[in-house]
Amino acid sequence: EHHGLQQQARSLSQHNPSSSIHKVVFSGIQPTGIAHLGNYLGALRQWVTLQNESDPSTTLIYSLVDLHAITLRQPPAQLRQWKRESLAMLLAIGLDPKRSTIFHQSTVPAHAELMWILSCQASTGYLGRMTQWKDKTSGEKEGSEKLKLGLFSYPVLQAADVLVHGATHVPVGEDQAQHLEFAREVARGFNHVYGDGRVALVEPETIISSAKRVMSLTDPEAKMSKSHPNPKSRILLTDSAEEIRSKINTAVTDSITGVSYDPVQRPGVSNLVDILYHCTQGAGFEDQAALAKDLDGSSLRAVKRRVSDAVESQLRPIRERYQEIINNAQLLDDASTQGTQKATISANATLAKVKQAIGLT
Ligand code: ATP
Repeated sequence: EHHGLQQQARSLSQHNPSSSIHKVVFSGIQPTGIAHLGNYLGALRQWVTLQNESDPSTTLIYSLVDLHAITLRQPPAQLRQWKRESLAMLLAIGLDPKRSTIFHQSTVPAHAELMWILSCQASTGYLGRMTQWKDKTSGEKEGSEKLKLGLFSYPVLQAADVLVHGATHVPVGEDQAQHLEFAREVARGFNHVYGDGRVALVEPETIISSAKRVMSLTDPEAKMSKSHPNPKSRILLTDSAEEIRSKINTAVTDSITGVSYDPVQRPGVSNLVDILYHCTQGAGFEDQAALAKDLDGSSLRAVKRRVSDAVESQLRPIRERYQEIINNAQLLDDASTQGTQKATISANATLAKVKQAIGLT
């Protein structure tokens, strides 16, 4: 898997003389709690690899999307704390604010401004078919007063996030692929109406990591997520070795004897194999099925011990660095100020072009 990412980074950095397109990587994470192993393997780890292995001419922009976070109600003090912790986490995983632009979305108003403009283009029919909207509202009665417009138009803000920076590449987990397709559609539609033969908005390419969907430990049919009510369903990047062990130990498996890789029939066991595979860079095996074959014959207890050890080795350095950073207010403030300045320049450049194209200026 690491290989694949290195290739992505290399192809991103390859100078292609026939195209003068400047590579721009953009991605975001909601500051709705400490990131979990799914966020890390599915998205954040790629952000760092892209930072460390891309050509220096590649622009890297990573956002803490706090405007997205309020599409579901968050207690204000809690949100403030999460914003700070999430910023510290991005530094702890190895993002360098000198190389990567790291900022809170709400500090760059061009995101919300472009969103409005794109909302005047976006089809409500298309938005209504988004699976995430359906998932997050599945408990609500249709047409309920409780359904918020912000949650419905979430993908439009997400499109604005990406398009306002002219992103060419967007590294995300699989759950975001549909939203990215929507962003491309919005860009195409905008260019068709206002582009005047020129490309005003860039259609971004999605980069999906091979750990595209890490599943919940307690409910392996669902993806691991920050908002799942059961805290034992996810491993946080700040969990101690003991917490990791305890969560893996209680992870739901099945009553079938032996180990095999079959995500449909054996989602729990396969998720553990996946986690082991991705935390050990493949463990020297060609794929998860080969790793599972090697594990077959070991007791479930032994397998779980191996998984815990692998997760702990991945997370220990991150956890230690996080503990150093979280109380360093100066470092956090500087990183965030610097990020806002750089992101403002990048976003305003696109917004000016868009306003010109549609006749606002
Ligand atoms: P929430 O539960 O609050 O919606 P989340 O855990 O889904 O949060 P996001 O902030 O929406 O996380 O997503 C951040 C990034 O992590 C996105 O690129 C998303 O695709 C990726 N991601 C989230 N969950 C997983 C997962 N279980 N496996 C792989 N990637 C994931």
